[in-house]
Amino acid sequence: METIRRQLASRLEGRVVESSWGFASPKFVTASDATGHRLGELRRRGKYLLVDLHRAGGCRDREHGDDGEHEDDGEHGADRELVVHLGMTGRLAVLHGTDQPPGNLTGRLGSELRPEHLRARFDLDDGHYLGFWDLRRFGRAVVVEPGDHSGLPTLANLGPEPFSPEFSPERLRAGLSGRKALKTSLMDQRLVAGVGNIYADEALWLSGIRPTARRLGPARAEALHRAVVEVLSGAIGNGGTTLRDYRDASGAEGSNQHQLRCYGRAGQECLRCGRPLAHTVLDGRGTTWCTNCQH
Ligand SMILES: [Zn+2]
Repeated sequence: METIRRQLASRLEGRVVESSWGFASPKFVTASDATGHRLGELRRRGKYLLVDLHRAGGCRDREHGDDGEHEDDGEHGADRELVVHLGMTGRLAVLHGTDQPPGNLTGRLGSELRPEHLRARFDLDDGHYLGFWDLRRFGRAVVVEPGDHSGLPTLANLGPEPFSPEFSPERLRAGLSGRKALKTSLMDQRLVAGVGNIYADEALWLSGIRPTARRLGPARAEALHRAVVEVLSGAIGNGGTTLRDYRDASGAEGSNQHQLRCYGRAGQECLRCGRPLAHTVLDGRGTTWCTNCQH
């Protein structure tokens, strides 16, 4: 999502949504409330994209009588907030307004951007539109009151960002209850935001810690903390990890799949000790790890 955010930011920030539409489902229908708003800075929390919406034009104090007459009083914050989660199969893309239907796009985006999978559309004042396509509808595109994530519990309970000071070895260690396997806790998003199955396997391999560990001592917590930061920063630098259901916002494949040292390499030699990597299912998730050098 960070890769996508960076790609979309320059094309969206400051644009006014002239009209918008959301698919008739609670997960998308409020997208139509974005109409008449200027898009603020694109932010990311975990796998969520957050965009402040500032009422464009004169009558911004329709509900807030204390907003004053300045049109651009950013200090008062946003009027609404757009929250997008890609789910399993969601895609965001900025296309020219005349690209109709989006399924006509050729190349790698191809079949994924079919008109019948369009769930939200935001027509911008520069002739382009932001579209959100989602085949399986596990994603979301909703407009909420700023900061009101009560309808989005996963977002509301999200742990610290991996590159923030709030994510520390101490916090990582303290957050482990001992009741769940370490890998499962790591993917829970409450300890730290942004670690999915791939990066959990990578970080555990890198730190030499077995996925089934329950608790960590200070030294191991520090090693895992370092590994999580390294793995996630590498992922962003490489444009995200490309898997069958992932494309970045321009449709290009990320290159990080070529950097993976553990995930997807079951049966191949461990790059550290040379033994074959094992594959197990842990709490329902496929897990690759080295039974020899992860303790
Ligand atoms: Zn090994």
